[in-house]
Amino acid sequence: MSELESFREETRAWLEANAPTELRGKARDPEAVAWGGRNPEYKYPETRAWMEMMAERGWTAPSWPTRYGGGGLDNEHTQILRGEIARLELPPPLTGFGLSMIGPTLLEHGTEEQREEHVPKICRGEIRWCQGYSEPNAGSDLASLQTSAVRDGDDFVINGQKIWTSGANLADWMFVLTRTDGSVKKQRGITFMLLDMETPGVEVRPIKLISGASPFCESFFHDVRVPARNVIGEVNGGWTVAKALLGHERSMIGGMGGAIGKSFLPDLAKRYVGDEGGQVADPILRDRVAQLEMDVLSFGMTVKRHTDSLEAGHQPGPESSMFKYYGTELNMRREQLMLSLRGPQALGWEGEGFEADELAQTRTWLRSRANSIEGGTSEIQLNIVAKRVLGLPD
Ligand SMILES: Cc1cc2nc3c(=O)[nH]c(=O)nc-3n(C[C@H](O)[C@H](O)[C@H](O)COP(=O)(O)OP(=O)(O)OC[C@H]3O[C@@H](n4cnc5c(N)ncnc54)[C@H](O)[C@@H]3O)c2cc1C
Repeated sequence: MSELESFREETRAWLEANAPTELRGKARDPEAVAWGGRNPEYKYPETRAWMEMMAERGWTAPSWPTRYGGGGLDNEHTQILRGEIARLELPPPLTGFGLSMIGPTLLEHGTEEQREEHVPKICRGEIRWCQGYSEPNAGSDLASLQTSAVRDGDDFVINGQKIWTSGANLADWMFVLTRTDGSVKKQRGITFMLLDMETPGVEVRPIKLISGASPFCESFFHDVRVPARNVIGEVNGGWTVAKALLGHERSMIGGMGGAIGKSFLPDLAKRYVGDEGGQVADPILRDRVAQLEMDVLSFGMTVKRHTDSLEAGHQPGPESSMFKYYGTELNMRREQLMLSLRGPQALGWEGEGFEADELAQTRTWLRSRANSIEGGTSEIQLNIVAKRVLGLPD
């Protein structure tokens, strides 16, 4: 038996013996696997043991170096591990901006001291991160940001405002873009810093949405002192780091659209539309389900090739915009189709007459509408693909 095959067998046996059976095959709230945070009122304590046992083996970040708490696995072993987790329909042991955005950025652009300080805490789910990029006048045109950071001795002093900061009310740390030079081309005067959210002068105001939830916040900085050692990369060289992080973010968001695993759509369709000899009864809906299944599968394979190359050490480039664009289109299509399949049962908000998954459907469909905005809008991704991938003129 090859080394890879025996790794698969051992991993399968270990997961079957240890992974909590109650977590298998269940739809779940993404919050159930987001750990760390200043206000840890977790609704899902059963996922804690799962995260801890995986962190113990470095398997919350399987491909990261063991000296920072990762698993040290190469790409092939990482794929086997992910495949076995998917086979048992287990949730990822850990998710969040630490794992998907700032962690890989620190591994690439951080100093040894910065990696040693932050990456092990990310792998153990101890720290929750938020992203201080967007400002009221700097969204798509992010490089126009105005939150200022002025050097004062060993510190930078930050003043200004961010907006749409997802989870800032729960986060321990923020990675934040600041303006450190206003006299040069806008991209050249930006610095990327790490900010402890407990620092005096940080104020977070959750934004209440129509649904009643507050998934993101306004974040204000009043003379907030950040040690200069928290700068990632060069002072005034933060745009390079910011773009690298966006590559990771866009790959992560886009990847949602092409998740390979057991598909639940055909069963859902039969449950609501009817089953005729093993087929979805309505031919038009059957066709839509089949088309989406094919598109998800082929996109999933393309994403897998991309993920393989990331795990082999390549950094995401402008092509991550393609994944972000198409992956979010697919996810929105899937949500729209699920709404069509469930019919009036997908229109409930609260009260009698609806199952819990039906009520959740209304909310996930509404939430999916933000997919084409978060992480950079679809229009901006198309611009990037046109200019930086296809080389088209402005
Ligand atoms: C769910 C969600 C979570 C988010 N979380 C965070 C977070 O944690 N941290 C953070 O910093 N930000 C976050 N954001 C903000 C997000 O990054 C911005 O909303 C996004 O970059 C767009 O910026 P904007 O809202 O200012 O829109 P604008 O930039 O004002 O754009 C308005 C419209 O104009 C279009 N447009 C703008 N410029 C062009 C152009 N050159 N060509 C063609 N069309 C153009 C856009 O596509 C859009 O349709 C989040 C947003 C959402 C929806």
